[in-house]
Amino acid sequence: MFIDVAQIKIVSGKGGDGKVGFHREKYVAAGGPDGGDGGRGGSVIFKVDSNLSTLLDFRYKKKYAAAPGENGGSKRCKGKDGADLIIRVPRGTLIRDQKTGQIIKDMSDNEPFVAAKGGNGGWGNTHFATPTRQAPRFAKPGQPGIERELTLELKLLADVGLVGFPNVGKSTLLSMVSAARPKIANYHFTTLVPNLGVVSVGEEQSFVMADIPGIIEGAAEGAGLGHDFLRHIDRCRLLLHLVDAAGSEGRDPLDDIEKINAELAGYSEFLAARPQIIVANKTDLLGGDNAAVDRLRRYADEHGMLFAALSAATNQGVHELMRLTWSELQKLPPVFVYEPEFVEIAPESGKRDWKVEKVEDYYVVSGAWVDKIMGSVNVDDYESRQYMDRMLKNEGVYARLEEMGVQEGDFVVIGDLEFEYVY
Ligand code: GDP
Ligand code: MG
Repeated sequence: MFIDVAQIKIVSGKGGDGKVGFHREKYVAAGGPDGGDGGRGGSVIFKVDSNLSTLLDFRYKKKYAAAPGENGGSKRCKGKDGADLIIRVPRGTLIRDQKTGQIIKDMSDNEPFVAAKGGNGGWGNTHFATPTRQAPRFAKPGQPGIERELTLELKLLADVGLVGFPNVGKSTLLSMVSAARPKIANYHFTTLVPNLGVVSVGEEQSFVMADIPGIIEGAAEGAGLGHDFLRHIDRCRLLLHLVDAAGSEGRDPLDDIEKINAELAGYSEFLAARPQIIVANKTDLLGGDNAAVDRLRRYADEHGMLFAALSAATNQGVHELMRLTWSELQKLPPVFVYEPEFVEIAPESGKRDWKVEKVEDYYVVSGAWVDKIMGSVNVDDYESRQYMDRMLKNEGVYARLEEMGVQEGDFVVIGDLEFEYVY
């Protein structure tokens, strides 16, 4: 089974929490703060693996999470960083934002791409010691990981794409000129997955050629297999358009060319405008009669396309076509690489989730963010309460309470804490 689109979810690791700790030694009454920092959470990183050619693995595994950082320890011990998670993808994979479909990254080169950075570790209480605050009883929680929903789409990177009706000899040609071993058989749709072959025409003169399943009429509208596979020739620089010159299946090769080109145009005008070489194959079946080849050559000339005649099965004219292909490629721009179009509005992880509700006489502040703040606060400690106060104020919690009409002396519940409101 060939899979070229997949939807996955990735989550980077949460940073470890900072530690509240104090130095303890025998016979030393009270030591200084020694709570260590939390470790950084692991990131989720994409990397190209040239040995992969489908997104099959993503069909079975949908969620990818990197490891969290360890919490800080005593004696200023920093928590261990969480391990990064490396996701390997075939070259030419587009990473898109699932909601908007926008391209985040085109995985075409060998640079690793960090798709979700791990959360930073929180500071241990050692960081909060000042000359006037020698025993801070609070530390910072680690930052949460980032969650992203992504669509992966494979658009192979090949210089040359083979197009044509089923059975015209595309797979045969690829197998003659490269080490690729596509299935070859005398029935339609033998090629169910795209095959890539490296064609070498001389020292340091090579290019990548892709054989995709035969395009059939109506492919651009999604009939049959063709449509899904057109994406793989979408970025080829040059198309070799094969026809059966002998018309051995009873069709007119000129008619085939026009039908295929109509399909390409139906898929994308850019693909239809791509340079083509018309390749008249199976000349061995013509019995020396040149009329069919001449007719195709004239058609190519009239339409501004290059032309070659050959017999892939007997290797007649194959090398000449590969030389022609190479020299044409020298005139063409490199394989198209997509620019990122995705603009992150606000990192999802930073979203602070809290709300204020009025429940009878009480104002209740709740939510995951509030729980986190309250969890890291020691309410018996003045400094710690001040830290909490600052966090709630900066976040706009007090402003919200006042908006809701809180009065001096009203009861406010924040997390597990209940107190009287004072301005
Ligand atoms: P594809 O569907 O376009 O990939 O076509 P294949 O490469 O699978 O070939 C289809 C059939 O045509 C196979 O039986 C091949 O052996 C045959 N074939 C391919 N090229 C030639 C050729 O140049 N001459 C002859 N006589 N048969 C060929
Ligand atoms: Mg084939």
